[in-house]
Amino acid sequence: MNEIHHFIGGKKVTGKSGRFGPVYNPSTGEQSSKVALASAAETAAAIADSEAAFRGWAATPAITRARVMFKFKALCEANIEELATMVANEHGKVLSDARGSVIRGLEVVEFACGIPHLLKGEFSDNVSAGIDMYSMRKPLGVCAGITPFNFPAMVPMWMFAVSIACGNTFVLKPSEKDPSLAIRMAELMLEAGAPAGVLNVVNGDKEAVDVLLSDPLVKAVSFVGSTPIARYVYATAAANGKRVQAMGGAKNHMIVMPDADLDKAVDALMGAGYGSAGERCMAVSVAVAVGGVGDELVERLKPRIESLKVGPSLSADSDMGPLVTREHMEKVRGYIDLGVKEGAKLAVDGRDLRLQGYENGFFLGGSLFDEVKTDMRIYKEEIFGPVLSVVRSNSFDEALAMATDHEFGNGVAIFTRDGDAARAFADNVEVGMVGVNVPIPVPLAFHSFGGWKASAFGDHNQHGPDGVRFYTKLKTVTSRWPTGIRAGAEFIMPTHK
Ligand code: NAD
Repeated sequence: MNEIHHFIGGKKVTGKSGRFGPVYNPSTGEQSSKVALASAAETAAAIADSEAAFRGWAATPAITRARVMFKFKALCEANIEELATMVANEHGKVLSDARGSVIRGLEVVEFACGIPHLLKGEFSDNVSAGIDMYSMRKPLGVCAGITPFNFPAMVPMWMFAVSIACGNTFVLKPSEKDPSLAIRMAELMLEAGAPAGVLNVVNGDKEAVDVLLSDPLVKAVSFVGSTPIARYVYATAAANGKRVQAMGGAKNHMIVMPDADLDKAVDALMGAGYGSAGERCMAVSVAVAVGGVGDELVERLKPRIESLKVGPSLSADSDMGPLVTREHMEKVRGYIDLGVKEGAKLAVDGRDLRLQGYENGFFLGGSLFDEVKTDMRIYKEEIFGPVLSVVRSNSFDEALAMATDHEFGNGVAIFTRDGDAARAFADNVEVGMVGVNVPIPVPLAFHSFGGWKASAFGDHNQHGPDGVRFYTKLKTVTSRWPTGIRAGAEFIMPTHK
């Protein structure tokens, strides 16, 4: 069986803990690899190795660091089919979607290529007699990234591309469900010219994570995953004096106003609800039909969902692949059972899908619930699968309140032809990322990504300008270089002269 270990100090390092986790090919249901789970001591050794690489890398001119990022991008592009296939084989996304996810990660690398410009400080000359003042952004030291299963290339790139370009070294702890991408990206970073130790990868579970949250050498922790773990990471890393940004789960609403273009709204719901089998933190999982548009919306959605082409990830015919593991598939199926018990109307039932030749794969068909109520668990909780809930609403205000009052606040969208309604919605909704006739409003790499409420903890979002702020600390220098300090000491608070 293929074994996946760690990547520390510029080479693959065999895990010694004796503990392993299984990695599956979700399309076939077969275990494809086993991944070593690092001990606390192995994790500490990876951090120490990154600490040893820090000073040299921080002192490397930003323009040289940028050139490494340029080369890394070129290498990823040259190897894009290999990277996308790895995503498809371990996560289960269809190949075209897997390729897209790598490209969205590479857009953050492109952003990081501009790091000399992004690190420029501010300068004020002659703030007082003969005194100049300037600021610079300095790297922090060793930074850690803990990433989820659903974007094994893109989410790590959100973090390490910006962090490393800023002059930090980085220890990545990827999801144990699809760990191969992280190792391959670390190899490519080395090939691109990043010195050994600048990007280390430690595979593991809670034991490794707890060291990343407590080791004094780690200065900042970036986490993306589910809300309970995000809360834990935020509280623990902050209690240990670290900077921390921790992104959590979601329940993204799409409001369909009575004046919306229904064809476009249905297309949008299909892609945003069922793309990547609903395993996206920006997936739409609730459609709010406003003012009587619900019946027609459901009638139009039903045949589209029933004719979704569910199939193996590598088949060019598949619209939607399997879920990541059997356990996750059973959890999603459990939510569909629960919705029926709670009294929602199951308009399309994807539970019984069987694929010939792939009977052991982790497949579910698309499911659609109608008449979902806001007190049901299937409305309140994140399902993270190909299940869309339709909720009826009598008014714009009621729909706005649903998205605003929900525990999660990652993404939201409104479909309407009314500019006034759209503007009021964008202005007032308590959600971090808003789409107007755009179902999945993921900010591009030169903006920053992050939700509100239980979808994110910490005050800096991922990548873009916030990413640079998160991974650097500000230093401000006040300098006097004149003909010497003028005679006479002053004992009063200095003021402008
Ligand atoms: P998860 O929380 O189970 O795991 C995320 C990471 O935390 C993994 O590396 C895992 O090994 C680690 N981890 C798991 N349990 C832990 C524990 N008890 N202690 C310490 N570390 C632990 O999340 P997942 O299932 O891999 O990913 C899916 C979740 O991620 C969904 O909730 C999704 O909404 C969310 N997500 C959020 C965003 C965002 O930006 N808001 C983006 C992608 C995914």
